[in-house]
Amino acid sequence: MIIEVDREKCVGALPCIAVAPKTFKLDKDKKAYVIDPKGNNYKTVLLAARSCPVKAIKIFDDQGKEVYPGSEFNKEDNTF
Ligand code: SF4
Repeated sequence: MIIEVDREKCVGALPCIAVAPKTFKLDKDKKAYVIDPKGNNYKTVLLAARSCPVKAIKIFDDQGKEVYPGSEFNKEDNTF
């Protein structure tokens, strides 16, 4: 699993850290970053990504395919 945080989008709102504190941390600029992609399990990281109010977190599988928000977002949204 590969996790990315879009620092431009991140507003330091914290829920990702509250949900997955072993995966995310805030830096001195109050932007989240990944401290350990294996710190929390996939379900917890997914929950953390879903909790982000600005959708700043992306999750990819080991082959580099986007798994969140990617297809899951599209399914919920029913736009594609
Ligand atoms: S939940 Fe989103 S906006 Fe808040 S700190 Fe995490 S990545 Fe940044």
